[in-house]
Amino acid sequence: MWRNCTCKIGPAEAIVNSRDRELGMHCKITRRDFLNGVAVTAGAAMMPTNWLAGTTDPEKSPDYYPPLLTGLRGSHPGSFEVAHSLRDGTFWDSAGKPEDTGEVYDLIVVGGGISGLAAAHFYRKTKGENARVLILENHDDFGGHCKRNEFRAGNRTFLGYGGTYSIETSSPYSAVAASLIKELGIEVSSFEKYLDRASYTSMGRVPKIFFDKETFGVDKLVDDPYVFPGGETYDLAVAGPDAWKRFLAEAPITEQARKDVARLCQEKKDYLPGLTLAQKKERLERISYSRFLTELVGVHADVIRLYQNVSFSEFTVGIEAVSALDAAEQGYPGFSGMGVEADALKYERDYFFHFPDGNATIARLLVRELIPAAVPGNTAADAVTNKTIYPKLDEDSSPVRIRLNATAVRVKHVGEVASAKEVEVTYARRDNIYTAKAKNAILACWHVVIPLICEELPDAQKEALASAQKAPLLYSTVLLRSGTAFQKVGANSIYCPYGYHTHVDLDLPVSIGGYQCPRTPEEPAVVHMSKAPCKAGLSVRDQNTAGRIELFTTTFETMERKIREQLARMLSPGGFDPARDILAITANRWPHGYASGYSTLFDKFALEGGEKPCERARKPYGRIAIANSDAGAYAYTDCAIDQAYRAVREITKS
Ligand SMILES: Cc1cc2nc3c(=O)[nH]c(=O)nc-3n(C[C@H](O)[C@H](O)[C@H](O)COP(=O)(O)OP(=O)(O)OC[C@H]3O[C@@H](n4cnc5c(N)ncnc54)[C@H](O)[C@@H]3O)c2cc1C
Repeated sequence: MWRNCTCKIGPAEAIVNSRDRELGMHCKITRRDFLNGVAVTAGAAMMPTNWLAGTTDPEKSPDYYPPLLTGLRGSHPGSFEVAHSLRDGTFWDSAGKPEDTGEVYDLIVVGGGISGLAAAHFYRKTKGENARVLILENHDDFGGHCKRNEFRAGNRTFLGYGGTYSIETSSPYSAVAASLIKELGIEVSSFEKYLDRASYTSMGRVPKIFFDKETFGVDKLVDDPYVFPGGETYDLAVAGPDAWKRFLAEAPITEQARKDVARLCQEKKDYLPGLTLAQKKERLERISYSRFLTELVGVHADVIRLYQNVSFSEFTVGIEAVSALDAAEQGYPGFSGMGVEADALKYERDYFFHFPDGNATIARLLVRELIPAAVPGNTAADAVTNKTIYPKLDEDSSPVRIRLNATAVRVKHVGEVASAKEVEVTYARRDNIYTAKAKNAILACWHVVIPLICEELPDAQKEALASAQKAPLLYSTVLLRSGTAFQKVGANSIYCPYGYHTHVDLDLPVSIGGYQCPRTPEEPAVVHMSKAPCKAGLSVRDQNTAGRIELFTTTFETMERKIREQLARMLSPGGFDPARDILAITANRWPHGYASGYSTLFDKFALEGGEKPCERARKPYGRIAIANSDAGAYAYTDCAIDQAYRAVREITKS
């Protein structure tokens, strides 16, 4: 049957499948997919203009505003093809002669993520604000993983985070990173001021688990009695008052498993008695959390089934590939009687700030500091709502320029490395290739890209760079007509162990500057869904590779169908109708997501110590230095900042 979707479609567009109709697949929301290398856009209802098509300089259009784009974002079509053809060795076959822009800078930065922007900032601090800097970024927006998802509903703006969620950290921010955050006007300790805690608690929504029929025999939402860290880590995600009672009575797993969950989460027991703390840690770093639960805690197999994928949002792999020590440090249950501190969790709770668009506001604040005219305003709060003026990013009159949709394809010294006075950077933009020169270059892009664009680096360094791992992730942001279905089922976050997305969360209620979060269930709601496309049973590296391929080959249409289906199954007891209630979907795919650390389960040297591949990879070479969070093999914003600082020091110390 046709549901109450308000959009109009012609007969030719009608989707025949009746389940698709129920899900609302015929509704007019943006679907941007790639067919045979050509971007195809359909139903651009949420898209403000057609600036993507045609002109050579779309960024100069006053309508250019990527945060409002829906459909496939993150590594969006148009951003990665050049790099992939470099990888495949085909790029230079069809490349014409580069055009010399004649531009000469003090510094060219490759990569406009937090690390690249911070590098430009630190460089100007050292060299003065007249230093000329060009930042090249292959995406249509700056910020890298810090991605702003913006929606309009009626006359209101709603924000979501398409990537980096918050200022949070598994280890304390360095003095450098913390001072930069402060300098940008962010008082981390003031977060509570913006958090609408009262409205949140008064709504009575609690974390839930969605048990699915295929795995557990029945589709059922049950209170989650122990909320694992990850996803929404701030202390609002706590179990409801009756969570244990409900879980023990209602969870569709064996009675023994329910009891085991309670024992695991509530008992204070040392499962390695007789060992010193150091011996315990040594043992725990060599076994997976899954083995810890099975062999040391002795839980029923249903507990493993329940918690198998609980680690996806934090580690991007299941608990069979997470070391028990990492699990302990993150605050997973089972360790409270073992003397192993949950240090990582403690730091995350102590230093936390969530903007409605995540750390995209940090990127905007950095851009404001580099090019004031591009992000008007004076405070961190006003950067949340003040619109970025994209045409200002790349102006001849500005000492700092950010050039979007520009992929660096070659970085080399002009002449011999030892005596060179300049570096030449070649980049592809639209269908053309250009060169620009600078005294120095900082490569703040993904490490796997660097050997492809900087061939003159020593082979051992290129090998170390190429070995960098990136963990793939899908962050989908969905705008709902209202939050009433979540209200009726009494949920604010849902762990779906076997859903397409494993974590489904309503965003934290943060109102800041002119931005007002939804305060009542009747208002539109922003839902965040995350997926780690990993393949249990493989090494972490192989899981990452498989997941990356999956993300690159899944169309937005498939993602949309999965999102609609999943929300419908979880929320239909609350009256949810996907055809009526979904207003917009942005699927941020990150095939090259988190910078992966080293696993004590799979990376031999992680146990043995010695120089890490990331340390070999980030060595400066002549006038070229290397930044990015890959340089620290640590997927946090502070790492991207620290690595930028180090790279700038390396090229400015003489
Ligand atoms: C989904 C997700 C969620 C996260 N959540 C958090 C969080 O809550 N808190 C936290 O602290 N950290 C989080 N992180 C990690 C954090 O986002 C990163 O550590 C940090 O933003 C990385 O910044 P970066 O500049 O080093 O890299 P990136 O953000 O990846 O920026 C590098 C940029 O270089 C560009 N580039 C690559 N090659 C080229 C080329 N040849 N030419 C031009 N440009 C190029 C890339 O496209 C990219 O835009 C998250 C990461 C992901 C993926």
